[in-house]
Amino acid sequence: MTTNAELWRRAQNALPGGVSSPVRAFGAVGGDPLFVHEAQGAHFVDADGRRFLDFVMSWGPLILGHAHPEIVDALHEATPHGLSYGAPHESELLLAEKVLAWYPGAERVRFTSSGTEATMSALRLARGATGRDRIVKFDGCYHGHSDGLLVAAGSGAKTFGTPSSAGVPGPIAELTSVLPLDDEGRLDEFFAQHGAETAAVIIEPVPANNGLLLQRPVFLERLRALTSEHGVLLIFDEVISGFRVARGGAAELYGIEPDLATFGKIIGGGLPVGAFAGRAELFEHLAPNGPVYQAGTLSGNPAAMTAGLRTLEILERDDAWSRLEELGSRLQEGVHGLQGFVRQGSIFWCDLGAGAADRYRDLFHGCLERGIYLAPSAFEVGFLSTSHTEAHVDELARVLTDVLA
Ligand SMILES: *Cc1c(COP(=O)(O)O)cnc(C)c1O
Repeated sequence: MTTNAELWRRAQNALPGGVSSPVRAFGAVGGDPLFVHEAQGAHFVDADGRRFLDFVMSWGPLILGHAHPEIVDALHEATPHGLSYGAPHESELLLAEKVLAWYPGAERVRFTSSGTEATMSALRLARGATGRDRIVKFDGCYHGHSDGLLVAAGSGAKTFGTPSSAGVPGPIAELTSVLPLDDEGRLDEFFAQHGAETAAVIIEPVPANNGLLLQRPVFLERLRALTSEHGVLLIFDEVISGFRVARGGAAELYGIEPDLATFGKIIGGGLPVGAFAGRAELFEHLAPNGPVYQAGTLSGNPAAMTAGLRTLEILERDDAWSRLEELGSRLQEGVHGLQGFVRQGSIFWCDLGAGAADRYRDLFHGCLERGIYLAPSAFEVGFLSTSHTEAHVDELARVLTDVLA
C-alpha cells in the first residue's frame, strides 16, 4: 500500500492544495491530511493502515454510516441495469414521491447533482417567479459556492453585500444582502426598506456550517411572517438538516413551512445528489413548464437515486431519528459540564470561544492520536450516524473531556 506521506506528496503536485475541496487540506489544524483507504460503519482505515472512529461522516451524507450493507446491495442490484440514462426512470420517481410525502408543503421536486446547484437553482426560480432580483442570506450560513452566495455583509450600515471570494463580481454580490442571524430588529428594518425588491430569503434553519448556531424559534417565525407579508419567498436550505433533524427536516422540527427547500447530502445516500422542492404553483415557472431554465446531464442519476431512496427507506423502517436522538443525548450527558457543547439531534459542536482556532488544533490532534477523527476545522460540526454505538459515543465523550481538560 502506498503510504499516506507518499500520496500526500504526489497529491500536492496534481490537485490544487492536494485536495478536491479546501477544508480537506487540514489548513486550519496543521499536519498532513489522511488518505482514506477504506471505510465501513463508523470507522475508516487510512493509507498507513491506522483505524479511526469517524465523526465527520463525509460532512453529513452518511447518516447510516460508511458503506451501509443494504445500500451497497441496492447498488449491486441496480447498477447492472445502467449507470446513467438521461431519461426518466422509476427510482427517481419513487425518491421524489418520498420527499414530497415527508417534507411539509412540498408538491414538486427537481433533482440536481449537488447542494450548490440546488440552492443556486432555487434562487433563480425565486427570482423568476417574483420578478425581483435581491436576495437575502445570513451571516454564518453556508449555501454552497455559487457567485451570489459567496457574499459577506458590506461594511458599516451598507445593506448590499461584497464578494467573500475572489472571482465573484461586485455587481452580483451587491444583489445579495447579508443580515445577522437571530436578530428580529434587523429583519424588521430590512423588510421595511427593501421588502418590495426582494425575491427570496435563504437560511439554514439549523445553521451548521459555522459551528452550530441554533436559532430561537421566534426569529424563524418572524422571518416567516415578514417574508409572507412582503411577497418574498422563504427558502430553507436543508442540505444538512433535511432528513436528519426530523423526517421532515427543520420545517417539521419548528413547524414552519418555507416556500422552497433545498436538499443534498443525505438525499444521495453517499452519492452526489441535490434537490429543491416547493409548491406546485412555483414550479410552473421552471423549465420545461416555464421560462426559468435549469438542467443537468446526470440529474436523477439512477445509482444516486437508488442510494438516496434506500437511505430514506431505512431511516423510516428503523425510526432512525429516535435512535439518533438517544445517541445524541447520551453524548451530551457524557460530556456533561463541557463548556460550549451544543447539539441538535445527531449534530454536535464545541464552541471553544476566544482562541478557538488554537485550542481546536490541540483538540483535533489530541483526538486523532486517540483514534478519533473530528472535522479538521473549529467551525465544522460533528455528525452521529446509526452506525455509531453507545460505546462509540462514550469513547468520544471520554476523549473530548480528557483532551480538553
Ligand atoms: C453542504 C452544503 C451545501 C452545498 O452542498 P454541496 O453538495 O457541497 O454543493 C449547501 N448548503 C448547506 C446548508 C450545506 O451544508
